[in-house]
Amino acid sequence: MLPVIPRGLPRGAFIPRGYKMQNSFDVIIIGGGPAGCAAAAFVSRCKWSAMVIDRSASAGHLGSLGNVSYFPGFPEAISGAELLKRMRRQAELVGVHFLMDGAAAVGGDTAPFKLRTEGAKEYEARSVIIATGAAARTNYLHGEREFLGRGVSYDVQADGPAVAKRSAAVIGKSPQAAQEALALSRFAEKIYFIIPSSKLDVDDALLGQLQSNRAIEMYFSTSLKKINGQDHVNSVTVFTGGQEKEIPVVGVFTYVHEYKSTTEFLGNKVELSQAGAIKVDRSFVTSLEGLFACGDVLCARPQLPAIAAAQGVLAGISADKHLTQRKQ
Ligand SMILES: Cc1cc2nc3c(=O)[nH]c(=O)nc-3n(C[C@H](O)[C@H](O)[C@H](O)COP(=O)(O)OP(=O)(O)OC[C@H]3O[C@@H](n4cnc5c(N)ncnc54)[C@H](O)[C@@H]3O)c2cc1C
Repeated sequence: MLPVIPRGLPRGAFIPRGYKMQNSFDVIIIGGGPAGCAAAAFVSRCKWSAMVIDRSASAGHLGSLGNVSYFPGFPEAISGAELLKRMRRQAELVGVHFLMDGAAAVGGDTAPFKLRTEGAKEYEARSVIIATGAAARTNYLHGEREFLGRGVSYDVQADGPAVAKRSAAVIGKSPQAAQEALALSRFAEKIYFIIPSSKLDVDDALLGQLQSNRAIEMYFSTSLKKINGQDHVNSVTVFTGGQEKEIPVVGVFTYVHEYKSTTEFLGNKVELSQAGAIKVDRSFVTSLEGLFACGDVLCARPQLPAIAAAQGVLAGISADKHLTQRKQ
């Protein structure tokens, strides 16, 4: 017979293959990024049995970030992988199980919910927290993944200070790209605004602000070919006016992707917005009682690890309240 892992254990590692474990939990958290880890640690600290299921021991968006420069408590930047490792360790230390598998389906309209995994395992939970993050609908730019967190960013508020008094590129044509280019001009000395279209999707007032900003140089009908560098971004290659041109920059802020919630495994279980994001109320409760959602899976802006973690705590508080009420 396979050894049964007692509640609250093991600590410090994903459940090893070949171990049999309990199959019923008070809370199952799907997704072990900052939102899922924070939610899991919170509910486990409240003495509910909790399991996080994640396909990967180290990835998720946070795990792939080179550097996170805007997380409270880390005055020096910390790598995304290290921050994620610490978050998972913190959850494990308060008794959270981690299972390396993917969620394939969530069954049942009331508790206990039945979770089927991609590895064909079944688990039951009185409550489920969905924290599966978001994925880009569009292809990544050449060099974008490689330099994510090492010069490539999606957020001027988080990473603008890293290009202070230096040059950076902003890529996109949306109002968000235009706003971010303006915001970046408070930090960078020079901004190359790469616009993959003959015009911007902005009103005249915003266009006027961009045109009168001396730090911003706009390149219309220009495509980004490649982000270059070694350890860190040092230039971009663009195609403009019929030829390639290399522009030295230390930061690239891209706004060309649309994101969608990672929710395929949910089918029609919960209400989604028109854009496909899970709808929640202010307490992170979905349209189905006992199911909660937090983090990037909500596709709300801004998307930052600190915000995802805070939402995870709030979803954990709601799950705790829900389970406490159900117990009486
Ligand atoms: C493309 C992108 C780039 C970003 N770049 C930056 C940046 O440069 N700097 C910065 O500070 N912030 C950045 N962020 C923000 C930050 O990474 C996220 O806000 C944060 O990681 C969100 O946490 P989360 O827990 O909601 O999702 P994630 O960190 O994405 O975690 C979701 C987890 O769910 C798991 N998962 C997904 N589907 C399943 C399934 N079916 N079954 C089991 N597990 C599943 C994944 O493996 C993953 O571990 C970026 C976000 C995105 C989307």
